[in-house]
Amino acid sequence: MTNPEWITKVKDVELFDLKVQPARSFIGGKWVVASSGQVFDVEDPGRNRVLASVTDMAVEETREAIEIAHTAFQKYRHSSVRERAAILRRWYELILENADDLATMMTLENGKSLADSRGEVVYAANFLDWFAGEALRINGDSHMASVPNNRILTIKQPVGVVGIITPWNFPAAMITRKVGAALAAGCTMVIRPAAETPFSAIALAKLAERAGVPPGVINMVTSNSPAEHGLELTTNPLIRKVSFTGSTNVGKILTKQSSSTLKKLSLELGGNAPFIVFEDADLEKAADALIACKFRGSGQTCVCANRIFVHSNVYTQFVQLVYDRVSKFQLGYGLDEGVTHGPLVSRKAVHKVQEHVDDALNKGATALTGGSVAYEMGPCYFHPTVLVDAKYNMLIAQEETFGPVCALFKFSTEEEVLKHANSTPVGLAGYLFSKDISRVFRVAEALEVGMVGCNTGAVSDVLSPFGGVKESGYGREGSQHGISEYLDIKSMTISID
Ligand code: NAD
Repeated sequence: MTNPEWITKVKDVELFDLKVQPARSFIGGKWVVASSGQVFDVEDPGRNRVLASVTDMAVEETREAIEIAHTAFQKYRHSSVRERAAILRRWYELILENADDLATMMTLENGKSLADSRGEVVYAANFLDWFAGEALRINGDSHMASVPNNRILTIKQPVGVVGIITPWNFPAAMITRKVGAALAAGCTMVIRPAAETPFSAIALAKLAERAGVPPGVINMVTSNSPAEHGLELTTNPLIRKVSFTGSTNVGKILTKQSSSTLKKLSLELGGNAPFIVFEDADLEKAADALIACKFRGSGQTCVCANRIFVHSNVYTQFVQLVYDRVSKFQLGYGLDEGVTHGPLVSRKAVHKVQEHVDDALNKGATALTGGSVAYEMGPCYFHPTVLVDAKYNMLIAQEETFGPVCALFKFSTEEEVLKHANSTPVGLAGYLFSKDISRVFRVAEALEVGMVGCNTGAVSDVLSPFGGVKESGYGREGSQHGISEYLDIKSMTISID
């Protein structure tokens, strides 16, 4: 291919399979293209241009990948846990060694600022380090049985071939959070990364290959027809487990499809996080946390605060603190020096954010700053927005906005705010700020979410179980619970008569 200006920004072109065009998929330890010859283009939302083409695999090729993963499973399931741990650790090191290139490419294909991308690369690598340790801790237990002279022993075994479907908003971490646990457990897998951000996935597969992952254990199939490939991954009987991160709507489709073969499922779905600031909160601390939590990735994270509830006695003061911070943002091209916030991933994403903002303004909210597309920068840039006087009948209260919009609601009592905080069908993350320890425990326990930040806006940590309740899905990733999603428990009853 030609050497466009953007490609000079990465040192190791081979890492992204850019010595060839289109970039390829990784199946059975080989880099391959679709037999149809079809490709799809990957765009740079920050510059509104095509970056490069990627092979667009057919469903039959995903099916072949599943069969290859199934064959590889027969051997990999018996690999020693030390071997798995060594591969994971080597892969972790390689990601850190290539962190600059990985972060640059992530910014190019996703749009997020380079600082956000760097943070994600380290976060993504950390899952591999963590699961390298977890591989060594797979254990079982033993019990006396009800029947005299019988003993019960439990062991844990890998579930089998895993289908992995990931979104564009964390192009690396959503892959390693699943793949790290699956590899440690002894599973093989077929990954279908988001079509918006395949280069991060390609680079991870290249590094996995360099780390010594045996052929067929990790297969990565790029395609631009998610529904068809999703159908294969959820109905093929050789797949025993599906792990999906994405929207609640797609999660429900995958659940229905998986029912025909009763696959084990992990679903990390959408959120609509409440962020509650009580009148006794440290307001400066809460404002700093809100900025990080709300605007990381320009608000395109599943755990980002969506509804900010502020006690009426401190509302004006808190709004000012938020406004002061947002005014200092530097919106711009993610790779440019000093830029704090980049574009959204696509025009479609911008459209949804504008719809939410317009709806809020029509129903009585006021935009203190922002509220519109920054067309002068490009079609995917949205001005960071602060909305005051938000009301519960607004779209912004009912759905996740997934954009750089901070909508502040006023409340008076703990009972009132909890009622509204829990009023959505989803429950992923929630945040509360208060200096009253009893209230912290009380409210944290009462919030209908899987993760609570108490006086902090950061709940994502490889050491903390990640996942939701209600329509935010089920299953937990990371932590000591993450690996169990990829293990079956087998009991053996042994007579010692
Ligand atoms: P999405 O559900 O549209 O897409 C997610 C992935 O699924 C993409 O790769 C997409 O191509 C694929 N997909 C789409 N339709 C499919 C189908 N019918 N069958 C199989 N695959 C299909 O979600 P999105 O808008 O790309 O991502 C943002 C959503 O993901 C938000 O709702 C966000 O909250 C959620 N998310 C959740 C977590 C979490 O851990 N809970 C993390 C990140 C993002």
